[in-house]
Amino acid sequence: MSRKNKIKILATAAALSVSGVSCSNAENENDGDMEKQSLIEKLKGLAGKGAKAIMPEMAMCYEVPAQPREEFTCPQCGNVFYIWDNGFEEITSIIERLKAQGHDVKVERICLKCAGLIPNDSEGNDVTNKFSYKAPKAKKYHIAYSANLSDFYAVEAALSNKDSYVMWGDTIQLSNEAEVLKKMLGK
Ligand SMILES: [Zn+2]
Repeated sequence: MSRKNKIKILATAAALSVSGVSCSNAENENDGDMEKQSLIEKLKGLAGKGAKAIMPEMAMCYEVPAQPREEFTCPQCGNVFYIWDNGFEEITSIIERLKAQGHDVKVERICLKCAGLIPNDSEGNDVTNKFSYKAPKAKKYHIAYSANLSDFYAVEAALSNKDSYVMWGDTIQLSNEAEVLKKMLGK
């Protein structure tokens, strides 16, 4: 089965599990098996003979994706990854706001290998964000890698001469973010 079809079926499985089919656990293994069996039957109906092939994932239905992954091609090595949303749109907006203020900043997504980081062997995110910043009068860009949206909020606040930023309702003081800013901005 192609990876895309598999993802489609997993998304279907997620939809089924929210519509009443729950996952098994240690206490009610038998119930879980029955539910699993009924889920298999539903999936067979939906996905034909492919249903059996996804049982290994179904056995851990707990991490079934609620949304399909996004296809991402690393601009440096050309490898294709299927990734979860990692907040890149939000990060791009931050970068655009900083550019509008006159800051020399860039961001692009690249794979962990190209970032020189060790790729984790799970099927989670295989990409990170490459952030480049050229301070006024600096000769070259400071490069940092970060997959954390909060790091970019901290950068935005620092470059906008603010003392804090707000993320998910929490106010974070930049005085606590010295390490992040050193990593991201080199100062
Ligand atoms: Zn790459």
